[in-house]
Amino acid sequence: MRESLEAKRARATTLVRTLKNAYPEARIALDFTTPLELLVATILAAQCTDARVNLVTPALFRKYRSARDWAGASLATLEREIHSTGFFRAKARALTGMARALVERHGGQVPRTRAELVRLPGVGLKTASVVLGNAFGEPAIAVDTHVFRVSQRLGLARADDPEAIHDQLAEVLPRRAWTLASHLLTTHGRRACGARKPLCPACPVKALCPWPGKTRVGRA
Ligand code: SF4
Repeated sequence: MRESLEAKRARATTLVRTLKNAYPEARIALDFTTPLELLVATILAAQCTDARVNLVTPALFRKYRSARDWAGASLATLEREIHSTGFFRAKARALTGMARALVERHGGQVPRTRAELVRLPGVGLKTASVVLGNAFGEPAIAVDTHVFRVSQRLGLARADDPEAIHDQLAEVLPRRAWTLASHLLTTHGRRACGARKPLCPACPVKALCPWPGKTRVGRA
């Protein structure tokens, strides 16, 4: 029988509560102290691990302290400095372009709305949500690869693109829990509900999960 929206919302609330108990330490893994630092770190984290980004950002944040500093960075130098995060040419262009837009349109400050954030070069919906949720305390759902996969296995959303998954999750997750739920689903995806070998028998939310393959470890 098809699950009603009301039933799905109730299950989503229980899922968040259960995952919170299972992963009480779930939080953003990127190190930052200001919205600008988080914006930079999130751009660098594309196709890279958060741990690798955290190795690179301390020196960057000491050198480039404002949007103006980033806007004026030498591309060749910046490419060398972020080389180890991968896709360094595209990321260097995104960082300087983003910073120029901050200087030209926002007085050097990171804007606080999704609409303004996604208009910055190199900033998509996920990056905007990460910044809104973690630097500004606005409830925001960030759909990374784990949230994309796990939310579908859990039957909370179903779509081919992250934006649609975002909108469907916004329909069923309690708004106050959007940011935390993103961290919980990401942590769950890393620790238990992996892409290739989900650890279903040991999964803390297996009783709430409708995924048909869940009882057979090793099936993706
Ligand atoms: S039961 Fe398996 S598929 Fe479902 S959430 Fe848990 S690990 Fe993922």
